[in-house]
Amino acid sequence: MPCKNCLRKPVIALPNSNVKLCSGCFVKYFERKVFKTIAKYNMIKPGDRIGVAVSGGKDSFSLLYLLNKFADKHRKLSIVVVSIDEGIKGYRDLSNVENYCKENSIEYHAFSFKKEFGLTLDQMSKKVKMNPCSICGILRRFLLNSKARQLKLTKIATGHNLDDEAQSILMNQFRGNLERSARLGPVTGILSDRRFVRRIKPFYFLSEKEVATYSFIKKFPVPYNECPYSISSYRADVRDMLNDFTEKHPQTKHAVINSFLEVLPLLKKRYSESKIRGCKVCKEPTSGDVCTVCKLLESLK
Ligand code: SF4
Ligand code: ZN
Ligand code: ZN
Repeated sequence: MPCKNCLRKPVIALPNSNVKLCSGCFVKYFERKVFKTIAKYNMIKPGDRIGVAVSGGKDSFSLLYLLNKFADKHRKLSIVVVSIDEGIKGYRDLSNVENYCKENSIEYHAFSFKKEFGLTLDQMSKKVKMNPCSICGILRRFLLNSKARQLKLTKIATGHNLDDEAQSILMNQFRGNLERSARLGPVTGILSDRRFVRRIKPFYFLSEKEVATYSFIKKFPVPYNECPYSISSYRADVRDMLNDFTEKHPQTKHAVINSFLEVLPLLKKRYSESKIRGCKVCKEPTSGDVCTVCKLLESLK
């Protein structure tokens, strides 16, 4: 079947539909969908100073390209790139991000676990009996939030796509942690606490396959390899299960997202009362006395 719009050779069959598109029509469809999501959820306002979290992979690189394009059109908006080097040997390499920012005159800030916490993720994972992805997630969230405040960013944009979000929803469900799900959604956060910098996810309604196709067509200088730790994670198990199921029942991932969006306002309301205090050690926001980051750093001593 040729491209639905222009009858040229198709490059992709859109997930959850019978529509096939050629590369030119797909790029237009993809960009329209991103800008529509930004508008629908009021993600960006004039005067915003948006921090784009860029790891150098296909999702965040595509996001950087598109938000830079968006900022070029909207003069009252500025974007700043924030990258975090977790210290994963043979995997994390931020040189493509740094070069891109230089070439396009984009403000760039890089931080590393080694410099901020004294150890790389590789070293940490040998010291504590904890899944590397859990360590990585806790420390990355913490660094992004605290650095965003220091850099006076109004929001943080991440390259999370529909697959990532569907996995997170199911992971929280399987672990019985609905409070965590209340912090998901296209614009995150349950509290308007000044210590939390809101996160926006412009790729919320685009699948992993669509983002990978966009990045491939645009020839972004990104690696397509996987993090060595991803194989053994809880997320990887949920991802494989969800992919298998979606293979047989194509509407699955979209259904997970759409039904979640229906209950999200209720979840946000239910957990908006949770008390957020300041961590006794680092003063960062936490629901307990000591935050998970400080507990983790203590166990690494
Ligand atoms: Fe971090 Fe796990 Fe992602 Fe690797 S797969 S970057 S360890 S969260
Ligand atoms: Zn076409
Ligand atoms: Zn703390």
